Amino acid sequence: MLTNDQLGNWDRENFFHPSTHLAQFARGDAPQRIVSTGKGVFIEDREGTKLLDAFAGLYCVNVGYGRPEIADAIAEQAKELAYYHAYAGHGTEASITLAKMVLDRAPDHMSKVYFGLSGSDANETNIKLVWYYNNILGRPEKKKIISRWRGYHGSGLMTGSLTGLELFHKKFDLPLSQVIHTEAPYYYRREDTAQSEADFVAHCAAELEALIEREGPDTIAAMIGEPVLGTGGIVPPPAGYWDAIQAVLNKYDILLIADEVVTGFGRLGSMFGSAHYGIKPDIITIAKGLTSAYAPLSGSIISDKVWKVLEKGTDENGVIGHGWTYAAHPIGAAAGVANLSLIDSLGLVENAGKTGAYLNKAMTDAIGDHPNVGEVRGEGMLCAVELVENKGSRKFYDPAGQTGAKVVAAMLKRGVIARAMPQGDIIGFAPPLCLSEAEADQIVAATAGAVKEVLG
Ligand code: PLP
Repeated sequence: MLTNDQLGNWDRENFFHPSTHLAQFARGDAPQRIVSTGKGVFIEDREGTKLLDAFAGLYCVNVGYGRPEIADAIAEQAKELAYYHAYAGHGTEASITLAKMVLDRAPDHMSKVYFGLSGSDANETNIKLVWYYNNILGRPEKKKIISRWRGYHGSGLMTGSLTGLELFHKKFDLPLSQVIHTEAPYYYRREDTAQSEADFVAHCAAELEALIEREGPDTIAAMIGEPVLGTGGIVPPPAGYWDAIQAVLNKYDILLIADEVVTGFGRLGSMFGSAHYGIKPDIITIAKGLTSAYAPLSGSIISDKVWKVLEKGTDENGVIGHGWTYAAHPIGAAAGVANLSLIDSLGLVENAGKTGAYLNKAMTDAIGDHPNVGEVRGEGMLCAVELVENKGSRKFYDPAGQTGAKVVAAMLKRGVIARAMPQGDIIGFAPPLCLSEAEADQIVAATAGAVKEVLG
């Protein structure tokens, strides 16, 4: 077996890590962790450090680590048939079963599921399908996509454009011109502090409508949004937001893509965020929770309305020119079937709602009154602590001070992994859905201790 030093050196010499300060990492100035095992909500690294993973990897290991039911399903599938493609009507028992299981859980008006590999490629698929849809309907001008500032939809060319975070655009020549952004439903950061939640919702809807009118409704194909803003800061929408937004979209015949990569399969305490907030999407993006990240798999769930047009399109134009080699990969599909079964048998959707509420309340009770905690917010098994230099003015710290990162580092010393969200000093929590109340207490104690250590 390699020594830890050897492995560490190879890592710095050879491995291009995503979302990493490349120069600091190569120089040995940025931290490194080589993870070796995991069980329940804990991971352990090669040094033997055990950490409570309060972000479930990248909010994806929803059933927790080390589930033999999923590992066995993967192994059996690999032995039986590791791969066959899904082109031209080919399938496997796993992929066909999983499609049915997904549709059984999705809103009633959804019709089919296309399987990809990642949230990013699923959203690329979605935009291509929306463009195809409007071409088939004879509306070639109706192509622009509206996204929200602080939305996160991936980091490809189109999906990085949809993402509304500066870090993902800067120096990459993004966003592409077909993408336009509208205001985030971020009530805490509203400009006019006199606005009630209802006023702010009306303001967001009016901003959206003004954007549509400015650009021309005949040029806009779809809007994409996460039911709860995730990587942009874990921001649940104010009450009535989705109703108000959908009324505007319906008025201008604009499709809605609900990006449920984070919220799908239980994270909010409901099977889907769409059901949670009364959203009626035309397409739903799924990934992460579909397999709890035991194998890479994503999906685009297509409504009846869109599906009918896609069928018409192939009747008129032949085979649809879209597919990946690994679409509906049998090993991913087998992991998905075992994972969705486990979510049901362990009652994890219910636990996400119950223990998530406990975590949010305990966090608010512990640090809500701290002078540098602007807001504690969350929904289901999602929670965020927004740090501010000044509570009255809601002023963020100077980014150079890395306040959020320092608090997260202080939490690590206390054995808990949280995530410093990329824009603003926001500490994010998205533990596995199997979290217990005792583990929630451990997360809260580590957060309170770290906030005190860094901010006093
Ligand atoms: N959509 C949302 C809402 C996400 O949170 C993410 C990833 O965090 C993605 C899409 C992209 O998924 P992936 O990283 O699998 O490409």
